[in-house]
Amino acid sequence: MRLRHIKGAEEEIAESPYVVQDPQSLKGRWHEFFGNDNPIRIEVGMGKGKFIMELAQMNPDINYVGIERYSSVLLRGLQKRAELELSNIYFMRIDALELTEVFAENEVERIYLNFSDPWPKDRHAKRRLTSDRFLAVYDRILQPDGIIEFKTDNQDLFRYSLESIPEAGWQVTSHTFDLHHSDMAEGNVMTEYETKFSAEGKPICKLTARRDK
Ligand code: SAM
Repeated sequence: MRLRHIKGAEEEIAESPYVVQDPQSLKGRWHEFFGNDNPIRIEVGMGKGKFIMELAQMNPDINYVGIERYSSVLLRGLQKRAELELSNIYFMRIDALELTEVFAENEVERIYLNFSDPWPKDRHAKRRLTSDRFLAVYDRILQPDGIIEFKTDNQDLFRYSLESIPEAGWQVTSHTFDLHHSDMAEGNVMTEYETKFSAEGKPICKLTARRDK
């Protein structure tokens, strides 16, 4: 998702109390920042943030950080965020490759990847958020028992991920090619893309994975 440039987006983000402005300074100090020892869960590529904001409302005892690399997209999330009274969710405008500059080892308990860009061409495979390059990043910030949850409508990306994840030394602990009609559906929170694609009749794929250590 890349919206056209929105005038003033950078300024609005720079002034927002919901965006961590200097996330590198919080590396290793996120629990202090949230003021509690609750688990920290992050969504990489949160888009407009519907999913992670709903989770934060449902689970006040969990801390959430939404990551989005485009200002124009993040800005849309901020408008919704301002309507909510929550102290357990913040956003960052960074690229996922920078996550190790922002989180220390073992600082994150769970990573959500929802409807990540498919990058269908082979030569772009390393840009996929489930490629070994990104998995190595997640490995450096996740707790030993931490998990990844990945949802997509894109069957090719899903099949690729079912291979790339074990190849990188992770274990796929559950998966389905039709989430909404599976036993993994319980408690599912829909993302923006998920709402759109399932309304079009597309089945949604989901997997969970943890490090095979
Ligand atoms: N997760 C949302 C959903 O399911 O509705 C948005 C899905 S959208 C297709 C993917 C989002 O991931 C885009 O907003 C894109 O900018 C963001 N994204 C892609 N690669 C990223 C990266 N390397 N770091 C941070 N965000 C990224």
